[in-house]
Amino acid sequence: MKYISTRDKGISISSSEAIVQGISMDGGLFVPERLPKVDDIENLMDKDYKELAYEIMSKFITDFGAQRLRHCVDKAYDDKFVEGIVPVKDIGGVYFLELFHGPTLAFKDMALSILPHLLKEAMEIRGVDREIVILTATSGDTGKAALEGFAGVDGIKIVVFYPEDGVSEIQKLQMLTQNGDNTFVVGIEGDFDDAQNGVKKLFNDQNFIKLMNDNGYILSSANSINIGRLIPQIVYYFHGYLTLRRQGKLRKGEKINIAVPTGNFGNILAAYYGKEMGIPVNKLICASNENNILSDFINTGEYDARRELILTSSPSMDILISSNLERLLFHLSGEDANLIDQNMSKLSREGFYEMKSIDISDFYGNYSEEEEVGEAIGDIFNENGYLIDPHTAVAYDIYRKYSLETKDDTKTLISATASPFKFGTKVAKSIGIDIEGKDQFETLENLALKTGMELPQEIRSLREKPILHKNNCDKESMREMVEKLLGIE
Ligand SMILES: *Cc1c(COP(=O)(O)O)cnc(C)c1O
Repeated sequence: MKYISTRDKGISISSSEAIVQGISMDGGLFVPERLPKVDDIENLMDKDYKELAYEIMSKFITDFGAQRLRHCVDKAYDDKFVEGIVPVKDIGGVYFLELFHGPTLAFKDMALSILPHLLKEAMEIRGVDREIVILTATSGDTGKAALEGFAGVDGIKIVVFYPEDGVSEIQKLQMLTQNGDNTFVVGIEGDFDDAQNGVKKLFNDQNFIKLMNDNGYILSSANSINIGRLIPQIVYYFHGYLTLRRQGKLRKGEKINIAVPTGNFGNILAAYYGKEMGIPVNKLICASNENNILSDFINTGEYDARRELILTSSPSMDILISSNLERLLFHLSGEDANLIDQNMSKLSREGFYEMKSIDISDFYGNYSEEEEVGEAIGDIFNENGYLIDPHTAVAYDIYRKYSLETKDDTKTLISATASPFKFGTKVAKSIGIDIEGKDQFETLENLALKTGMELPQEIRSLREKPILHKNNCDKESMREMVEKLLGIE
């Protein structure tokens, strides 16, 4: 399997190269030259999560050999995941794919617990003997999951940039208390798009790349622009479908809808890849928060980033430049790399583009207002005793809107992306807990008490942990910051 750039099909490299490079030199993203198919999904029915992960990933990562890939899978999906890795909960006939039972309590763990191992193996295969520097922008959850995945990994340093005022308090604490000599965390005066743009710029700054090379470093990325992060995400959609089949909730061949709370378009793209590979999917429901640029695009064919970013209670979706949409557009345009290149340049120059002629009817797009997110959390808790976080609530709200609007009664799998305790203030308020004058931890204790759920240890322990990272910079100084952190003069 080769990987080609969305902006230049002439660039064609192996999976290990694509994982090491992260992003293509021309600014494009790597995509598989063709999407592999699963012959008969029913044959996968008896596989546990790890076997399934190996089965799916081996179709994409073809130059590792069985042993290396199995090793990666074994190291990733071990007992740092609880509740059987990814439970599927039937809540009044709606199915929730709970992706937040990893070490940092958000779905990013599904991919970032395996990416460091993939990267280590890929470096060995490529004979890379320089130290890798991972540069990553985060809207909150990627940062912590990447830090956790890469902490203490030899031969790799990781620098995470997060928007100073754009993450939840728990997310920030999780990052600032991260240990590991090879981890660095930097607050940016700006929003997630500033952080992501800044990182993308560094990847395209030839002068900076040369400086890094001269100092024995090579750059890579842990954002979902890295194909090594996207591939592991396809696995859980197979797992979700197969679990429902095993439980007899779906008939053979019966289609499902998949609803995904969407920011950078990585998670829903993985669902799309799953559909193309053979999961019987009817609609992919793309759920946005008030930053509804994606749902606008799906409904109008215009991608218009000339608007203010709004800070919401689902900060991991507070994004205006959804990187992975580029991959979908590449596929839907019949792999027209020139067109993608033009549109993406236009987006960075003028802040918008149009693509009205592509057929995006696999997707339904809509968005939730802040108030509706709270109502969704309150409703499902009151009706079913089930607690969801604000990101998952956006998906649930849009699923409800979709059902009302279309009367489609296809069974639906909702991607549940974070533990409700990670965004406890909003969740507590939404189920009627008085949070006035209480600090974050008191609120969380109250939330645990009222719901009879246990406050996850990862969050409980944050109270005692010392703050280890104190770096800040403005968005123009990210390069200088990296040089300083790495001790480059
Ligand atoms: C990252 C994240 C999302 C958005 O996922 P994308 O792949 O960026 O679309 C949604 N919910 C949570 C909790 C997240 O951490």
